[in-house]
Amino acid sequence: ETVKPTNFIHQIIENDIANEKVADGQIVTRFPPEPNGYLHIGHAKSICLNFGTAEKYQGVCNLRFDDTNPEKESQEYIDAIAEDVRWLGFKWNGDIRYTSDYFDQLHQWAVYLIEQGLAYVDSLSAHEMREFRGTLTEPGRNSPYRERSVEENLELFERMRNGEFDEGDCVLRARIDMAAPNINLRDPVIYRIRKAHHHQSGDKWCIYPSYDFAHGQSDALEGITHSICTLEFEDHRPLYDWFIENLPVPARPRQYEFARLNLNYTVTSKRKLKLLVEEKHVQGWDDPRMPTISGLRRRGYTPASIRNFCEMIGVTRSNGIVDMGMLEAAVRDDLDANAPRAMCVTRPLKVTVSNFPEGEEEWFELPAHPKDESMGLRKVPFSRNLLIEQEDFEEEKPRKWKRLAPGDAVRLRGSYVITCNEVIKDESGNVVELICSYDAATRGENPEGYKPNGVIHWVSADHSVPCEVRLYDRLFTEANPDGDKERDFHDFINSESLEVLTDSRVEIGLKHAVAESHYQFERLGYFSVDRDSDENRLVFNRTVTLRDSWAK
Ligand code: ATP
Ligand code: MG
Ligand code: MG
Repeated sequence: ETVKPTNFIHQIIENDIANEKVADGQIVTRFPPEPNGYLHIGHAKSICLNFGTAEKYQGVCNLRFDDTNPEKESQEYIDAIAEDVRWLGFKWNGDIRYTSDYFDQLHQWAVYLIEQGLAYVDSLSAHEMREFRGTLTEPGRNSPYRERSVEENLELFERMRNGEFDEGDCVLRARIDMAAPNINLRDPVIYRIRKAHHHQSGDKWCIYPSYDFAHGQSDALEGITHSICTLEFEDHRPLYDWFIENLPVPARPRQYEFARLNLNYTVTSKRKLKLLVEEKHVQGWDDPRMPTISGLRRRGYTPASIRNFCEMIGVTRSNGIVDMGMLEAAVRDDLDANAPRAMCVTRPLKVTVSNFPEGEEEWFELPAHPKDESMGLRKVPFSRNLLIEQEDFEEEKPRKWKRLAPGDAVRLRGSYVITCNEVIKDESGNVVELICSYDAATRGENPEGYKPNGVIHWVSADHSVPCEVRLYDRLFTEANPDGDKERDFHDFINSESLEVLTDSRVEIGLKHAVAESHYQFERLGYFSVDRDSDENRLVFNRTVTLRDSWAK
């Protein structure tokens, strides 16, 4: 049985398996986030690729926190990231792993490099090191400390480890080639002093390995066969390979790069998202306007929709910007098929059905889903006191108006046709109530030859449940908020990205709707129950409108 390759990474893996380059044929991948923020939709691409690839080839995928910058990291981020991966529907291999689990081994390997004459303690200042590094067109220069003896280096490194130096006094560098055309090979820093408490290793260490030194070796220790990362690490690959070749590592992982996901009308960088949170442009990392996985979840995105989106965009080596409309289309497809229907009136206008007796009610049985009988029926009450959407009535009706107007008839979805007989206004001239009559012959269907103007949604005022509805717009006013060299993404924050309607009413069947459940509110879009809901107040977030409203 052959598995069809769906991207270039899968093609590489299938070749490796065919050529028996994979020990025991077992594919091992990893997803290696740094716990310095919440994951965003770009990370979802990496998660789907790493976990999805492992699943496809009956391999395993590790979850490893790349925790070499203790000052920027925290347990809160670790917990949030693990929850995001779990929620997306992936299961990691064994326990959560941490690069910090390997600090002892990495330290021994650093000592090993010193002993081989392949690493030295440099006492240049950071500024001097930068000057000595050279440029793309000019080779670097050797540090005056590059020729320190093995003994001296071992002693200095030991003293670094013992905390005898201050941060920045010295670093450990790999001794490779200061004239290498690839700047990453010009004696990269492999250990630096950070007198910081670490969320996993506590105060055991005051020296920490660099990303480049830690990553490949951690891959080797975990038996990762294919170490998949984004294109900005392509130039680091020779260094990745240099460490693997020069250290007695237990396995031979290889790095492969793919293009990051960029999405328009948002930013996908933890650093920038963190600023949005800290500066209170949003209410938190999981604000439904954020492109974080937790924000999308709260907005009402489903795991399936995000996974399908990642399938749709594919995996390539060319950078591009994906339209937000694609992400929205993915969730629309999923919710169209799976979300029960309901009616919600977001800005209510009172309708009194004058020929329907006060105190009586009539219950309609409507399908929970028009295309899926298995979802059953829902009971919707009709009464004398109804609410319709303010927007669905116009006193001076525009041309081709398909809703209600004085003297006109309209069908109330799933029930009767009503005719507007009288318009009641308050002292300032605002329409506050419509007196209508219903036509008993129109129950559920139109009598022959009869055609009302249109169909609108409604609820019974006496039965419906009060709720809050939160409507969201794009977080940025520009498609590429990072694209302007002169300006910064802050200049393009949409100050009207959130609209809160506190006076809304939803049909009674949703009274006990649970947090994170999904509904299609007829004519309004897909909504999800926010976790701010409680016994007395339901809160709904609009996930997405029914049709693409992004295309301008
Ligand atoms: P950020 O700049 O947002 O902090 P990062 O790459 O520094 O991103 P990591 O925590 O190191 O964040 O990312 C974990 C994994 O997710 C890495 O393998 C990284 O390449 C991948 N990744 C991060 N951003 C994207 C993206 N936009 N598209 C695809 N993969 C991504
Ligand atoms: Mg990173
Ligand atoms: Mg980062």
